[in-house]
Amino acid sequence: METLFQSSVDEVDRLVGLGEEEKVLLQDADAAAAELLVSEFEKYVERKYNPEIAGVLRRHNLMGVPIATKYGGRGARQLAEALFLERMGQTGMGVITLADVHMCLGSLAVQDWGSEEQKDRYLPAAAKGDVLFAYGLTEPEAGSDPGSLKTSYAREGAGFRLTGSKYLISNGSIATNMIVFARPQGDSKGVTAFLVDTKREGFSVDMRLEEKIGLFTSDTSLVSLDGAFVPKEDVLGEEGKGLSVAYSALLNGRIGIASGCLGVMEDCLNQVRERTTSRVQHGKEIARHQLIQKHVAFIESSLEACRWLVYRAALKKDEFGGSPRDVSLRSEADRLSAVAKYMSSRCAFESADRAVQCFGGFGYSIMSPVAKHFLDSRVARIYEGTDEIMELKIASSVLGKQFEAYR
Ligand SMILES: Cc1cc2nc3c(=O)[nH]c(=O)nc-3n(C[C@H](O)[C@H](O)[C@H](O)COP(=O)(O)OP(=O)(O)OC[C@H]3O[C@@H](n4cnc5c(N)ncnc54)[C@H](O)[C@@H]3O)c2cc1C
Repeated sequence: METLFQSSVDEVDRLVGLGEEEKVLLQDADAAAAELLVSEFEKYVERKYNPEIAGVLRRHNLMGVPIATKYGGRGARQLAEALFLERMGQTGMGVITLADVHMCLGSLAVQDWGSEEQKDRYLPAAAKGDVLFAYGLTEPEAGSDPGSLKTSYAREGAGFRLTGSKYLISNGSIATNMIVFARPQGDSKGVTAFLVDTKREGFSVDMRLEEKIGLFTSDTSLVSLDGAFVPKEDVLGEEGKGLSVAYSALLNGRIGIASGCLGVMEDCLNQVRERTTSRVQHGKEIARHQLIQKHVAFIESSLEACRWLVYRAALKKDEFGGSPRDVSLRSEADRLSAVAKYMSSRCAFESADRAVQCFGGFGYSIMSPVAKHFLDSRVARIYEGTDEIMELKIASSVLGKQFEAYR
């Protein structure tokens, strides 16, 4: 197991206690991450989506990490899931994106908001990896302000017909099911969440978005719904309460992204240590030059600081999970997940930048292991809430709701 990750596991175990099953989960994560390293790098160099990710996670029984054991998942609490994603993050944000969207945004939304019938129908298949989720909130004209989304639905017979476009959707062309957020046709109020079967007539992938500046190994697509039928049994949560589903999924998702960013910082530190202690300039290993040590110190301090933000957010989320009606626990979990995501994504990107600097000219080559993190981790400051939206959210949690800047 990677030393840096093992030290996280040991420390969390010492302070909070990890069960035997959680330790087995983390060993499985370790094996899956090791297995994904080669294909991730090859596909990144080819600038292609990596079709191996889901298969490897499936083989190691890692597609249902947070899903309750009664539905066939591993029943991991948020803290264990954070450690699992921390390890997977060492392989890069491409793997994290698939895992986070499928598990934190998709499966957990069904587990938290679904009817018993929906949980029985979707969760065992999601845990096996036979169902792969995507999350369709963003549209060409609605990003940071999901309340302005335009995808609409109209009632028809025993269900609804959905029409609109969803933009920048991770897993968009590989998912079997997508949580789609839409509002009633001709009515500006009341967004509803729908579980859409992507094989339904009227659902189509318009384009795989391959001209990204990074995150090549993750599938990102533009999809359309052209009167796609959704039976009424596939409304997720209450009609008109879709934004609550969307925001609670993002609370989970942000902890997932922040966890992945820890893995990015760990890999940067590992790579920097290896490179700077072997590369010789001016007659000594560059690690002996004090200005290089400054970069090492930054990455190490960022990692240590962010670890506790992420674990604290995860622990608060677990506490909230035990008392789901507690509104103040919910807003505390929401605030901490925003802080963890905001800081970890910024620190991961800056760590990758400093790692590129330590590698010098080779760092600027796509063939260097740290360049991948530099290109990929940038997205973590954009998706699931941009830096600015996180800042506004965090500030209003301090100043009070009446100061919410984006109302
Ligand atoms: C690779 C990738 C994968 C993604 N995957 C998914 C996915 O699976 N599902 C999904 O639904 N979405 C996904 N997204 C979309 C992502 O969540 C949005 O890009 C993000 O929320 C920002 O929205 P936007 O791009 O429309 O930017 P805009 O909302 O247009 O924002 C542009 C800029 O303005 C700032 N801004 C906006 N409003 C304010 C304000 N009130 N105050 C201050 N600044 C403001 C933003 O912070 C940003 O800097 C993905 C994006 C990328 C790049």
